[in-house]
Amino acid sequence: MQPGTPESIVNAMSIDVEDYFHVSVFDGIVPRVQWETMESRVCRNTEKLLDIFDEYEVRSTFFVLGWVAERHPELVRTIAGRGHEIASHGYSHRLVYDQTKAAFREDVRHAKKLLEDACGRPVSGYRAPSYSITPRSLWALDVLIEEGYRYDSSIFPIRHDRYGISVSDRRPYRIDRPSGSLIEVPGSTTQLGPMNLPVAGGGYFRILPYWWTRWGIARVNEQENRAAVFYLHPWEIDPDQPRLAAGRLSRFRHYRHLDDTENRLRRLLTDFRFDTMERVVDAARLTIHHEERVALSLPYSW
Ligand SMILES: [Zn+2]
Repeated sequence: MQPGTPESIVNAMSIDVEDYFHVSVFDGIVPRVQWETMESRVCRNTEKLLDIFDEYEVRSTFFVLGWVAERHPELVRTIAGRGHEIASHGYSHRLVYDQTKAAFREDVRHAKKLLEDACGRPVSGYRAPSYSITPRSLWALDVLIEEGYRYDSSIFPIRHDRYGISVSDRRPYRIDRPSGSLIEVPGSTTQLGPMNLPVAGGGYFRILPYWWTRWGIARVNEQENRAAVFYLHPWEIDPDQPRLAAGRLSRFRHYRHLDDTENRLRRLLTDFRFDTMERVVDAARLTIHHEERVALSLPYSW
């Protein structure tokens, strides 16, 4: 592989570390007060991912939920000790646009402290539950800057029933605010006509055939000459997780192809190169700084 060719591009791997019952679509099914009583499977599933990443010599970013870190600080230490980046998925898994600014500040501050205490390193990245930084919650970016986060990966440039800013930039960009700046690193999409379609992770990785992800990441690498950002959850490689009584659409989105996701992940790790978000962001930083227009990519003022 030659430097500068699409084959040499290193993509970003990311895992949102939460249990199967934390998922936002189950909010009405498993109330928070019941979380403590549920069978926890997050440690074993995350350890399985760590073994797979070792096998393929891949390092990833793990956006760990503060609630999980509080109960399993040894898991956070293990992830960091095996060479991966620890980042924050917030503390409570409440959607950002359902929180007040003060509550959100407390949530991301608490999570950052728990994670830093557990791994002994600074935490610089944040990803919101269900990508819930939208036009209704852009104030969250100011809070993240003020609380010491350096990058965010919560704004999906798509149309979706629960999240997304469809007109935001598909590339990483810098957001300059009076209190400082933040690099926004959107999940990867590809443009088909007027539509931005997600190509790198989550339900789209499980529900659609594998070729969709492979084609989409290759398209980002080859046509745009930049890294893709892929994401997955530990519960997505756990076909034996307890089934929750959600509605039909939620069940389809959550349980489809759980038994095939590990195989797909192995194919993905064979087909592409990956590293942590932090290192991919650092590698792109020079380009981001020199591209003036990317700072203007959010069409809203707040
Ligand atoms: Zn989540």
